[in-house]
This record gives sequence, structure tokens and C-alpha cells, in this order.
Amino acid sequence: RTAVVLFTRDLRVHDNPALAAACANADQVVPLFVLDPALSKLSPNRTRFLHQALADLRGTLRDKGGDLVLRTGDPVTETMKLAGEVGATMLGAAADVTSYAKKRETRLTAECAQQRIALRLFPGVTVVDPGAVRPGGGGPAYRVFTPYYRSWQAQKWRDEVAPPAKVTLPSGLSAGTMPAIPGGESPDAADGGETQARRRLSEWLGAIDEYGDRHDDMPGDATSRLSPYLRFGCLSPLAVADAARSRNAEPYVRQLCWRDFYYQVVNAFPRISTEAYRPGAGDEWREDADALRHWQDGLTGVPVVDAGMRQLRAEGWMHNRARLITAAFLTKHLGVDWRLGAKWFFRWLLDGDVPNNSGNWQWVAGTGNDSRPYRRFNPIRQARRFDPEGVYVRRYVPELKAIGGSAVHEPWRLPAGVRSGLDYPGPLESHRDEAVWLRP
Ligand code: FAD
Repeated sequence: RTAVVLFTRDLRVHDNPALAAACANADQVVPLFVLDPALSKLSPNRTRFLHQALADLRGTLRDKGGDLVLRTGDPVTETMKLAGEVGATMLGAAADVTSYAKKRETRLTAECAQQRIALRLFPGVTVVDPGAVRPGGGGPAYRVFTPYYRSWQAQKWRDEVAPPAKVTLPSGLSAGTMPAIPGGESPDAADGGETQARRRLSEWLGAIDEYGDRHDDMPGDATSRLSPYLRFGCLSPLAVADAARSRNAEPYVRQLCWRDFYYQVVNAFPRISTEAYRPGAGDEWREDADALRHWQDGLTGVPVVDAGMRQLRAEGWMHNRARLITAAFLTKHLGVDWRLGAKWFFRWLLDGDVPNNSGNWQWVAGTGNDSRPYRRFNPIRQARRFDPEGVYVRRYVPELKAIGGSAVHEPWRLPAGVRSGLDYPGPLESHRDEAVWLRP
């Protein structure tokens, strides 16, 4: 019996239920990845990371006697073609929540039914399956985080599955050439792959105890930076959550729950990925291409905002606190549509994915399914609190290197003589907030 395992966002051998089931139930297993040219243009950073992850996965599968078979084209067409070639009777893949993934699953279901191939979708993209935790009062998903978190904590999580010892490929199958790893856009971006991910995780577990106290310390960089590996499934979210829970690192487990939260929201309400979830919200955005460009380029004249936006470009990643500050600045201060901000983030972020990106942007913009839509972020108060000495700002905004301490957060308050010597713009005008923080 031959099984095809279609890898998508589960680029790992550890705790990969689809791969484990195929190896347990079939004599021959074809691990497959289909490169969809339509997706590779979305983000050069993620495309590079993906290719690194594929090369790593191929190496691991080869060590186990198998291979990663690569095809290019429409994922459903290529999968069914290969399934026919190898005479597969089973097809396994990880279940996913986005509209793109659901269309793929619907088409695979129809094709497999026609070709009498048993299709099975497996868990593994989240800790708890989207839809497994339902609100008591009915409805397909929780709209508010805290009650979801309570139910999520009380769930019994599935057991992790062991990586297969051996993978047996059908003979005579061409695995396809691994394309050269493309260049990304960010010079300091992390490298992809399960091997890197596991190394990073084991380092992180040594520091996880401090997460509760330090996760907002912007210059301290004291978060896990595991998000790109979770995004591509180089790590199993369940395995990360199990490891954190066994160390009683509940503040960290809670953040992983935020990730699950947005997946179950998108699973039930797919339109929130592109439309304001709260009816009537977000009709009042301003069109201001100039302000948007200044924000994208990290030239708003508000140092903490510019530092975040430059970190994004340099590393393909941004500290969560900086994401909150920069997103609030665009939507609440400049009055620009959150979707334009989300699009820019989505181009650069290694961890960019639809549920977390859109979910968080809507949370900040106040258009989402959250109970406090009118939340404000005063960027200067945030900067003074989470970057008290200005170290984070000076790291990413070299024009301000000479300004010591927290004075770097408000260059407009510096003596005129100092200010005129800086090659740094004045702050962009506010269109929404009272912007009390800008007043002399
Ligand atoms: P850690 O603090 O170490 O947290 C551990 C893990 O928990 C993260 O890797 C992530 O998987 C999850 N997590 C933490 N915070 C959140 C959160 N607020 N929402 C959902 N999951 C969370 N995260 C993405 O993975 N992809 C995105 O596209 C994305 N876009 C965002 C856009 C905005 C405007 C904001 C405010 C946040 C966004 N986030 C996104 C959430 C968060 O900023 C990142 O997950 C986090 O910064 C990743 O760094 P880390 O792995 O060091 O996080």
C-alpha cells in the first residue's frame, strides 16, 4: 500500500501526525511538497525561509531512507497526478483554516472520492484543533480571548506522535530538483528549517522562566522568536506548548493560545482576514499615500515607530510591542486603513500569516471581534515604559545614535541647535488622536 503525504505548513518530522500515520499504515510513503508559483511572489523573505525549510526536510527524510518529492504547479493537480503515478490508496495532509487551504481541501476531497483514494486530514497546525473548543452559549467560535483561553486550558491536548524511524519511497520515483535558495529582502532574517527550529527551541527553553517578566522588554529581545518556525510548522505548536507547560511557563503558553485563538476565529469567520469584523467599523479611513510611505520607510519622525518599521525590514520580524505601537500609529494616529498596514507586514514578516496578522491588526485598529475597540496607544508613553533608555530606538535608527537616554524618544523637544543637526524628520501630523504627546 502506498500513501502520499502532502506537506503544507507542517515542514517537520517530529510530531507530524500525517507523516506518522502514513508510515504506520502504508508500505511505501511519498512525502510531497508542491511549490505554488502564485504564492512564491507574496513575500521574498518567506519564500527564502520556505526553501530553506524544504531543503532541511529533504535532508532529514533522506537520512531516514526516504526523500521529499518536489513538484511545481497547482497543488491539487500535482498531488493527484503523483498519487495516480504511484498508485496511492491513501492521502494525508494537515488540516488548515484559511480560505486558500480550505479550497485546496475541498478540491482534494472531491478528487480523492473520484479516484477512490482515502483522504485524511490531520491535526498539527495549532495546539488545540480550531473548532474543538466552542462557546457555551452556542456559536461556531469564541469572539473574545479570555473565555476562550479558559476553555482551551481545560482541554485535554492530544498526545504528540513520534517521528518515523524509516521512510520507504516507491522505487523509480523522481524526487525533483531542489531549486536554489532564493535571496530574501531582509539581510538579518532568521534561517528556516526544522533543524534550526529545534536548536532555537532548546536555547529558548533555558530562558523561558523569565518570559512573564521580560516579554515586553524591547531592547532585551527576550521573546522566543519561534514565530516563523511555528508559521511554517518547522515546530509543532503542541510540542512547544507541552515543553512550556512542563516548565510551568504559563505566560508563554498563554501567548501560544492567542495564536490558536485567531485560527479558530478565521476558521469560523473567514471574512475577518480581509474585512472589518465589527459592522460599520473602518469606513472612515483616510487615503494618504504619503503618510503610508513614511510609515513604511520608518520615517514618521516618531523614533519608536521608525525603529519598529526598520526592524521589520532588516530582520523580517518585529518585536510584538513594536508591532502594537506601529500598527496603532498607522490606524489611530494617521487614520490609515489597517488593511494597508497588514499588507505591508505580510510582505516582510517571516511569520506573516493570515489569521495572526489580520486578527492582530483588527484588534489594534478596533475593527475586530474584541470587546475594547477604542483602545489607544500613546507611542511616547509606550516607548518610555518598554524602552526606557532608548536602546531599542538607537539600535535601529542610527540618525539618533548621538542622543543619549530617553531623550531619544522625543527629538522635537531637544534644543533647536541639537535638533537642526539631526538628519531626522519632524513627526507626521496626527489625523485622529488628540496626540497630546506631541504638544510642547
Ligand atoms: P513570543 O512572545 O515568544 O510568543 C510565542 C508565540 O506565541 C509566538 O511565536 C506566536 O506564535 C504566539 N503569539 C505571541 N503573541 C501573539 C499574538 N498577539 N497573536 C497571536 N499569536 C501570538 N504573529 C504571527 O505569528 N504572525 C503574524 O502575521 C503576526 N502579525 C501581527 C501583527 C500585529 C499588528 C501585531 C500587533 C501582532 C502580530 N503577531 C503576529 C503577533 C506577535 O507579534 C508575534 O507572534 C510575536 O511577536 C512573534 O515573536 P515571538 O515568537 O518571539 O513571540
